Amino acid sequence: MSENKSLLKTSLEKINLSHPVIHKNECKGCKRCIIGCKKNAIELCSELNNLGYNYAIYKGEDCNGCGDCYYTCPEPLAIEVYVSKRK
Ligand code: SF4
Ligand code: SF4
Repeated sequence: MSENKSLLKTSLEKINLSHPVIHKNECKGCKRCIIGCKKNAIELCSELNNLGYNYAIYKGEDCNGCGDCYYTCPEPLAIEVYVSKRK
């Protein structure tokens, strides 16, 4: 994970915002999570991962923690969702 993405993840958790956590080297760039996200919060990165795929990344806002990206992803280790504890 790049320093910027690591900082983004850390700050999202600190302020307790729901967000997907995408493990870039497990992603095969199939776009199912992108199509499945009703908040349009995920996109494909222009960089390639270790497998040679453009991988999915979180745009950094608008995730509501619904989990649809997790349930649509065919790769068991590619995506997790951090769900805010806020009511
Ligand atoms: S949890 Fe829901 S809103 Fe958040 S990125 Fe995944 S599909 Fe989109
Ligand atoms: S659904 Fe999974 S494998 Fe497909 S682009 Fe999204 S994170 Fe990557």
